[in-house]
Amino acid sequence: MPGNRLTYRRRQPYNTVSNKVRVVRTPGGEHRYLHIKKRGTSPKCGDCGVKLPGIPALRPREYAQISRPKKTVQRAYGGSRCANCVRDRVVRAFLIEEQKIVKKVMKEAEKKQKGGR
Ligand SMILES: [Zn+2]
Repeated sequence: MPGNRLTYRRRQPYNTVSNKVRVVRTPGGEHRYLHIKKRGTSPKCGDCGVKLPGIPALRPREYAQISRPKKTVQRAYGGSRCANCVRDRVVRAFLIEEQKIVKKVMKEAEKKQKGGR
């Protein structure tokens, strides 16, 4: 039974992360190593860390090669934060603004009371 051992088909001789292979059968019936590219990682939400839905997991170079609509969603903070975190941000900003208005109104009411006397 000659040769069930296979050789790498590239110059890199070590079993590293970037040098992973799969055994395939060629049309000629022989077994050969097929070099596999590293898997991409999907972008995560910058606040809570969930994988962002609607955005593919690619290698960095591949992100550079696809168009913008494929790596973002149509929302504020689209390709960067998940929907829940964006909602939290919007609500928080709204409440802070409301608090400011309340403070202002209270101050004015106080002033009016003082002026009336
Ligand atoms: Zn999030």
